[in-house]
Amino acid sequence: MLNLVLFGPPGAGKGTQSDKVIEKYHLTHLSTGDLLRKHISEGTALGKLAQKYTDEGNLVPDQVVIDMVDQKMQDTLDTNGFIFDGFPRTVKQAEALDELMNKNNSPISGMVSLEVPDQELKNRILERGKTSGRADDQDIAKIENRIQVYKDETLPVVNYYQNQQKYFNIHGVGGIDDIFNKIIEVLDRLPT
Ligand code: AMP
Repeated sequence: MLNLVLFGPPGAGKGTQSDKVIEKYHLTHLSTGDLLRKHISEGTALGKLAQKYTDEGNLVPDQVVIDMVDQKMQDTLDTNGFIFDGFPRTVKQAEALDELMNKNNSPISGMVSLEVPDQELKNRILERGKTSGRADDQDIAKIENRIQVYKDETLPVVNYYQNQQKYFNIHGVGGIDDIFNKIIEVLDRLPT
């Protein structure tokens, strides 16, 4: 099994690159942002709770996200592996993910981090906001908050995977296929 964490700030291209990785390696996509937006659009209790956080670009509480991921993994029976997109976003989430993976005897193979300068992130998110319809993509103060939350709460996750020799960073600016080729180079060397 190939279990990949695709990591990076909002607007780094995780969604775009996930689609390409899934097509090539036939992995199961697990995007916590997508799952939360589905709950919100369906008006579930979880969605109502989450919206207060997502609207402002703040993180949804760890346990809510961890339980949602656990459920999605239990619902996925046959898979070649998972690609985690937008998760883990805190060290507590990273620890919980290791526990879930160990329970299934299927450890995280590696973490690929897409690195993109702040100004480029802001431009990309504002551009995406023209079509995504997402409130958190359209307001510069919310976008800046998301980038700050990434730096304060999510960046320590890099260290977590570095300590396990599972961290690979990739410069995430350039052609989509060029970046994808750099990801392939990493993935083809990972233990499965
Ligand atoms: P994304 O689509 O990954 O940018 O996520 C959109 C929003 O959903 C984030 O700004 C957070 O409010 C929330 N969110 C997504 N994933 C997580 C996570 N792993 N932990 C906490 N909040 C999350």
